[in-house]
Amino acid sequence: MLVENNTVVAVHYHGYFLDTKEVFDSSLEREPLTFLVGHGQMIPGFEAEVLGAEMGEKRTFTLEPERAYGHREEERVMAMPIGDFPEEIEIGMTFQAEVQGQPMPFEIITINEETVDCDFNHPMAGKTLTFDVEIVSIRVAGEEEISHGHVHGDGGHHH
Ligand code: ZN
Repeated sequence: MLVENNTVVAVHYHGYFLDTKEVFDSSLEREPLTFLVGHGQMIPGFEAEVLGAEMGEKRTFTLEPERAYGHREEERVMAMPIGDFPEEIEIGMTFQAEVQGQPMPFEIITINEETVDCDFNHPMAGKTLTFDVEIVSIRVAGEEEISHGHVHGDGGHHH
């Protein structure tokens, strides 16, 4: 059986920046990551690069921002009144705003006299990411999983 759309795949992965070898995320000390292929659960390049892989196969690939978290957009940096924040804010702190009922995380990037510049870009936007991936298991997704667009049971939703 191969990784294809509507299969449930478990992978171990190690994500790092190719130039510095700095690791930004790794499943190696956790449970493998489980996802339903073809339902937008993963960044697009990650799925595309594991398609057609077999059980136990290892693949290494590098994703430019277009196939990962997209590019940074300056329009996603917004000034907010400093009075909206606690007194002891610092650059690099992260907060969460709620926009139309959706949680929107952001990072403080500049503190001015009356305003704070808040960066709503994804922290990984604009970055090129390299992954070492190993396919741990592959199974056919159930009809209910396909209609919900996510995995049920181990590594997924329990409902
Ligand atoms: Zn469900």
